[in-house]
Amino acid sequence: MMEEIPLSEFRDYVAQVAEREIAQRAADADKTESFPWESWRALADNDLLGVNAPAEFGGMGLSNQHYAVMIEEITKADPSVAVTVAVHTGLVIYMIDRFGTEEQKAKYLPDLIKGKTLGAFALSEPNAGSDAGSIKTAARETGSGFVLNGTKIFCTSGSIADLIIVFAVTDPEQGKRGISAFLVEKDTPGFSVPRTERKLGWRGSPLAQLAFDDALVPKENMLGERGAGMKLALTALDTGRIGMAAMGTGIIAEALRLSSEYAKERRQFGKPIGSFGAVADMIVGMAVDYEAARLLTLNAARLKDEGARFTKEASVAKLFATEAAMRAAINCIQVFGGYGYTTEYKPERLFRDAKALSIVEGTNQIQKLVIAREILGRL
Ligand SMILES: Cc1cc2nc3c(=O)[nH]c(=O)nc-3n(C[C@H](O)[C@H](O)[C@H](O)COP(=O)(O)OP(=O)(O)OC[C@H]3O[C@@H](n4cnc5c(N)ncnc54)[C@H](O)[C@@H]3O)c2cc1C
Repeated sequence: MMEEIPLSEFRDYVAQVAEREIAQRAADADKTESFPWESWRALADNDLLGVNAPAEFGGMGLSNQHYAVMIEEITKADPSVAVTVAVHTGLVIYMIDRFGTEEQKAKYLPDLIKGKTLGAFALSEPNAGSDAGSIKTAARETGSGFVLNGTKIFCTSGSIADLIIVFAVTDPEQGKRGISAFLVEKDTPGFSVPRTERKLGWRGSPLAQLAFDDALVPKENMLGERGAGMKLALTALDTGRIGMAAMGTGIIAEALRLSSEYAKERRQFGKPIGSFGAVADMIVGMAVDYEAARLLTLNAARLKDEGARFTKEASVAKLFATEAAMRAAINCIQVFGGYGYTTEYKPERLFRDAKALSIVEGTNQIQKLVIAREILGRL
């Protein structure tokens, strides 16, 4: 459809939508801890939720590099919306497109792509975070399907999602090869959302606990092969890390923009503070980090577009961009001085919104483990 649109043109297009429709709602969503549905609808109306989904289901069919650029631009406007889109598009739509049956694709993709329905991804459990292979949610086979029992935590969009990809153990004796993935609709009897978390940042993005109490999921809603759940999750998380790296890049870009503008306006000792080397140095650091984070992210996305292996590159990009995002956000507060510490100005929210990036889709310690394994092999 828009196959040939150059990245720079696409970036401008998304930036305009984000500035016009999303940015002004971010502070309020943060304050009220509520998901900004108008921002979601604006992205849907501009076809952006299906950025790299196939055209036959209503997607734009663009590349993973376009996806990364889009997430970066949305993050500048509102990281809470960006993470919602990253899970919906980068994990849920991607997984159904890649691993779903023709029936599953036809049933779920068109509405997800149009934003009529919203997707979530439920892997983490109270006792299984980094060690995701140790999940305990059980899926017992019966005549008509699988009966799910267990608890998921930290599910982004869990309380507002219509469709959730849930990982559960179908064959306990098989260990990690006994985990399968399921497409669970929100109205499934036995499924409930007991609580949502209050948190440091991403306050416009609800983070939910999910409970499954004899929730019957039809057989045809198994996603991928029985026992392939962990493989699916790890494949999806490789892609997810490109999204988180793009979010880190967006945080750095926004810190750089805010800091540069402020350093030119704010005067002390009769001069703009940007004229002081120590202040300019923080801004230069952000600029260098931005270029590096953006290129690492686009590199991982390009490898994926080419069908090459990109596990290491996605982890490198995620690790670098999200740590650089924290540096940039901290220094952005520093450039603003006391004003930056108050809720009247954006840097404190940027700082709170940056932190989650080093935890989600594999903590940064886990990224180091992945990178080490890619270099050294399993020792
Ligand atoms: C805002 C937010 C959104 C999230 N969204 C989702 C979602 O949509 N779906 C979902 O399934 N999950 C989601 N999560 C959960 C997230 O993926 C987990 O929090 C993450 O994987 C870490 O797991 P944990 O919190 O149990 O920490 P733990 O695994 O207990 O880790 C605790 C600490 O130990 C370190 N550690 C653990 N193992 C190792 C190791 N082998 N080597 C070195 N260090 C190690 C970790 O890096 C960390 O510093 C979300 C979390 C947050 C905060």
